[in-house]
Amino acid sequence: MKFEVILIGGGPVGMMLAGELALAGVKVCVIERLKETTPYSRALTVHPRTLEILDMRGVKSQLISKGRLLSRGHFAGLETPLDFSVLDSSSNHTLFLPQSETEKVLEEWALSLGAEVWRGFEALSVHQDEDGVDVKIAGPHGETTLRSAYVVGTDGARSLVRKSANISFEGTDATFTAILGDAVLSDLAPMSVISRITEKGLVSIMPINDHIYRVLIIDMERRNISKDEKVTLEEFRSSLIRTTGSDLGLNDVKWMSRFGNATRQAGRYRNGRLFLAGDSAHIHFPAGGQGMNVGLQEAMNLGWKLAGAIKGWAPEWLLDSYHTERFPWNTALLRNTEVQTLLLDVTPSITELRSMLADLIQIPEANYQIAAQISAMDVHYAPDAEAPSHPLNGKRFKDLRLQLKDGQLINSYPLLNKGTFLLLQFHSNEPISGQWETYSNLQVLHASLAEADADWNDVHTALIRPDGHIAWAISLSEANPMQKINEGITRWCGDITD
Ligand SMILES: Cc1cc2nc3c(=O)[nH]c(=O)nc-3n(C[C@H](O)[C@H](O)[C@H](O)COP(=O)(O)OP(=O)(O)OC[C@H]3O[C@@H](n4cnc5c(N)ncnc54)[C@H](O)[C@@H]3O)c2cc1C
Repeated sequence: MKFEVILIGGGPVGMMLAGELALAGVKVCVIERLKETTPYSRALTVHPRTLEILDMRGVKSQLISKGRLLSRGHFAGLETPLDFSVLDSSSNHTLFLPQSETEKVLEEWALSLGAEVWRGFEALSVHQDEDGVDVKIAGPHGETTLRSAYVVGTDGARSLVRKSANISFEGTDATFTAILGDAVLSDLAPMSVISRITEKGLVSIMPINDHIYRVLIIDMERRNISKDEKVTLEEFRSSLIRTTGSDLGLNDVKWMSRFGNATRQAGRYRNGRLFLAGDSAHIHFPAGGQGMNVGLQEAMNLGWKLAGAIKGWAPEWLLDSYHTERFPWNTALLRNTEVQTLLLDVTPSITELRSMLADLIQIPEANYQIAAQISAMDVHYAPDAEAPSHPLNGKRFKDLRLQLKDGQLINSYPLLNKGTFLLLQFHSNEPISGQWETYSNLQVLHASLAEADADWNDVHTALIRPDGHIAWAISLSEANPMQKINEGITRWCGDITD
């Protein structure tokens, strides 16, 4: 087989997953029908947890150099903003960056690691059997069939892979649509921001750069138009006038689009050798800017597990854990977007509810809870049932400041640049060794905490998963740490002395 994994769809999720697989030495190819990245960016927001995972792979700084950092977000456009600056993270901010830029950086990263990206090719059919998957594609020189061990559908909402895998996509159809336009608004002072709800509808205007604004409108007079009906310039201008009182000097419109609140999720994210990630697995109204972020986090969850299956070290349960770990979080995501959608109404009772909620989220704890949800900082997975219990098990791994034996201070995230497991042993104990010291999928580090940290002070040893979650942590009070560490490593990283 020329490729071990084929990814159908080279949007942000496909490119991220291609990078993850290539990093683990998997032969991977992305089949993408577009000859080049679309210049029309749906997503503009990269959230804190996504920035953390990109930091782990050394990609964050490149993205940040192209966009704007913001410490505030919103829930349903309520008057009280969400404060990300209080999150316990080195990425306690969002990044405002057009999706096309994010996609380009991820594509370059994947290519630099050896992934192949076949642009201008369309997948026509996908058939799996016991030993592999056949993908029929059409390209500039006609049709051909590729075979691989696994296929992932990163092919968006209308996913061919989801249909080929007979995976259901249950949920609700759109009950309203909104319009989007990227344009010059020459009557606005540079970098103006407008967010307004009146009986005429909702309008949100933010600067993409010094010249172009992103305009989002839910126009009460036009909210029942089908998503498939093209937005005209006249419609865009009159909706802008209806909701703001003026066309704001609208000119030089770069792009217009209509989108709705259809909300659906795939019944499962895996059927045999076929997987789904990103919009192929879930769609929802883009409230809070979460869809791409969640897809990138799925790519991070799936990549090392799929690589482990191909390299032969992954236990059988690990591949299935992709669905069991991600599905409940995406169910919660769909619910939070539906709640936000309900709040985007202009009736007197909803207006009153909005005002009550805006007051409530002035309470720091309430604000924190919603900020953690929208930014995905609250995501944790079921603790390893066979490991000794510890509050850190399954939680997100934050970027610790560590001190090495020679006194050098380092941050922990760059240690995850290679996409391997990380075994952190703390200096307060005698280092423990085992045959796993030679594992190619595990790095071992002896260090101490540079700063006291209530969550970590009692940790003897912890195993960090390649996706930046804590597989398990063993406490200093553990009677037999050696045995627990050996068992825990074999359970997660396999027995792969090579
Ligand atoms: C108005 C709006 C604003 C948004 N804002 C945000 C935001 O701020 N933050 C956020 O996180 N999310 C946001 N989103 C959601 C985000 O855009 C999507 O979740 C994201 O694009 C999903 O990425 P993906 O890679 O899964 O799918 P897509 O981006 O849809 O990529 C799928 C790719 O697959 C290709 N493809 C499909 N079928 C085939 C085939 N058969 N053969 C070959 N290629 C194929 C397509 O050409 C496409 O390039 C927004 C969405 C909208 C509508």
